[in-house]
Amino acid sequence: MPVPGILRPGAVNVRRIACAVGYRCEICQHECAVHLLEIHYIPGWEPGPCRREDLHHWILVLCPRCHREVHNCPCTKEEQAYLVSLRDPGVAREIRRILRSRSRPYSAPDTFDPERFFSDPSPVPWGWVV
Ligand SMILES: [Zn+2]
Ligand SMILES: [Zn+2]
Repeated sequence: MPVPGILRPGAVNVRRIACAVGYRCEICQHECAVHLLEIHYIPGWEPGPCRREDLHHWILVLCPRCHREVHNCPCTKEEQAYLVSLRDPGVAREIRRILRSRSRPYSAPDTFDPERFFSDPSPVPWGWVV
């Protein structure tokens, strides 16, 4: 089942996830250039509210060769889940954190009042660089 685009980690987060696994393929353990590592989604994940945080149970960071193999001669969902269970707990936590960070909508700090920004006459004389 293809994972909806909105849940796919963006390019920046893919890099952060690759960094979290030490730039190693989670199947063959070979170190890989960051741009070569791919995120594999294990079939069976169901979208739903608050499920994004669970998504780390359903992804594997793979080199292109292992990724192809997983798709060509699919190992069972259970085997793929087993691979995820081997993940270092610290790494799992980090991936979870990365995936969660994307879901948080941007909010301006409370102290910033855009109204004030526009209405206050600037105390700084023109021509000053501040
Ligand atoms: Zn591999
Ligand atoms: Zn895949």
